[in-house]
Amino acid sequence: MIMQTVSRAALTGFAADLGGTKTAAVRIENGKVVAHRVLTTDPNASPEAHIAAIGDELAQLGYNTNAPLGVAVAGRVDRAGAWHAVNRGTLSTIENFPLAQALNARFGDATCLNDAAAAALAEGVFGAGRHSDSFAYLTVSTGIGGGLVIGNRLLSSANGLAGHIGFVSSRFASGPCGCGRMATVESIAGGRGIAAAAAAAGFENMDARAVFAAAKGGQDWADRIIVTSAAAVAALIGDLTAILGLDTVAMGGSIGLAPEYIERVQNALNAEPELFRPDLVHVKLGHDGPLIGALAAHLRKETM
Ligand code: ADP
Repeated sequence: MIMQTVSRAALTGFAADLGGTKTAAVRIENGKVVAHRVLTTDPNASPEAHIAAIGDELAQLGYNTNAPLGVAVAGRVDRAGAWHAVNRGTLSTIENFPLAQALNARFGDATCLNDAAAAALAEGVFGAGRHSDSFAYLTVSTGIGGGLVIGNRLLSSANGLAGHIGFVSSRFASGPCGCGRMATVESIAGGRGIAAAAAAAGFENMDARAVFAAAKGGQDWADRIIVTSAAAVAALIGDLTAILGLDTVAMGGSIGLAPEYIERVQNALNAEPELFRPDLVHVKLGHDGPLIGALAAHLRKETM
């Protein structure tokens, strides 16, 4: 892997972020998003249709062939540039699609990587982890994703799986996970896991947001589910710290940023010995993280 250091001010180009619900395309100048377009992702669309949709959005933003372009996507991107769904519930049609090849054919020169890896790179180099030597980004949303930036470098593997930290086993979990494993952190602590726990407690058809509202309204059953989610995330942070010597963890995602969630994770983390307690903060780059990270990965020649 070749890696060049790129300052934030040197980030000029385009980026796209293809998620399970939304697809964003932006123009970035000197490290700042200056123009932004967003559309609803069709989860059943073919990969070619996703690329065409990104192309249309980029054209509206003044994209010219061969301009620097980074593309962040939900799912696993291996080092050969092939794209695979990890959770079939998110993007159902993606199986071993040659994404890098298709992007290069359509746009000339582009870099693609997993969206959480892109966000981790941006946060690790320009955001909450910019002073960190051993950094984890953690997103708690429908699922749990992440990325690791060690010594200013995004940790990667040939199969593109490195950094999928939600798929680690959890002593708090017992049910199946969308990745095919059993009893993972994601299965108990992510949005789907929280909704499943609510259903198991007799509260059908409640999503995580509704469980948070019930907890705020003083419902003990809902509070217990959120406390368990936070405890599972804290244990994950302790485990990752044992492996990687983390000094900083930045948390994002709709649940990670929900009121009082980070405090609950911190409370659980406080039960760990000091050595296993990195600084826990919110992300600094918000929704721009995956976009800035994707362009940075392109300009740094750093892929998955
Ligand atoms: P995404 O973050 O993937 O765009 P959403 O924001 O719609 O998707 O929701 C992701 C998960 O976060 C869902 O499980 C949802 O119930 C939960 N969620 C969204 N907003 C909040 C909130 N304010 N408080 C708690 N949970 C939330």
